[in-house]
Amino acid sequence: MQTIEIALDRLLARIAEQSGAFESHLNSLPSSQPCPRHPDQTAVLLIDPSWRQKRPVYGCPMCADEVRAKRRARRLHDAGLPADVRHATIENFQTDRPGIETAHHTPSQFIEAARRFQAGDARNLILSGKPGIGKGHLAGALAIAALDAGRTVAWTDCASLFQAYHDAYRDNTTAAVVNRHAQAALLVLDELGLRDLPADGEEILFAILDRRHKDLLPTILLGNQPAEITKKWLGGRITDRLRSGGCILRYGEWESMRGKDGDGAGDEF
Ligand SMILES: [Zn+2]
Repeated sequence: MQTIEIALDRLLARIAEQSGAFESHLNSLPSSQPCPRHPDQTAVLLIDPSWRQKRPVYGCPMCADEVRAKRRARRLHDAGLPADVRHATIENFQTDRPGIETAHHTPSQFIEAARRFQAGDARNLILSGKPGIGKGHLAGALAIAALDAGRTVAWTDCASLFQAYHDAYRDNTTAAVVNRHAQAALLVLDELGLRDLPADGEEILFAILDRRHKDLLPTILLGNQPAEITKKWLGGRITDRLRSGGCILRYGEWESMRGKDGDGAGDEF
């Protein structure tokens, strides 16, 4: 027992000695200096982080901005957001688009639906229509806003979801695939109705969307087909769940804006 106490005393004495040395080292350093990476920026000696990291730490505002931007980009990537929607906002969605004189919804009605969804008017949002009309852009804007507010987002297309589920059969981890999509604070399910449902497709979607319905979690669904076809593809049980949580559905048919407003690929090959 005594040996332990002596060892402990020695250890504490050593820590005190080193702390004193480190403190006088910090005191001898300049309180600020130019950032080595941004010479026009003043980096300030940060005492608390220095103690934690056991080395002097200078904080530069521009370096801090870069770290924040990198972390944000990583969150968007990890959530599964496609690269072409990672700069989307509701404000930079263009409402002035050619070919909007159809019997269907207009770009302005798409924006209004996105805003209502964001305000919590409805728990589910289905944006549907021709490829390139900006459904993904609006979903991206809503997903980014959720991520920036610190919420978890899962973005997947149906084919990848079914593939992930089937791959998980092998190591018996299908529950993890369902959980990941059922528990995200916001789920974006892309490419609804693009392909035929696999035999267990409705079961997989129902397992996820029923849990989300019970946990009052919002879901955005993106598809290419008009309402009736989308409903048929999803099946009665799922449509029922979506509707009872409140569901806004918009279908648009204006010209693709890909390569014209910067929210898609360029028009040159
Ligand atoms: Zn810097």
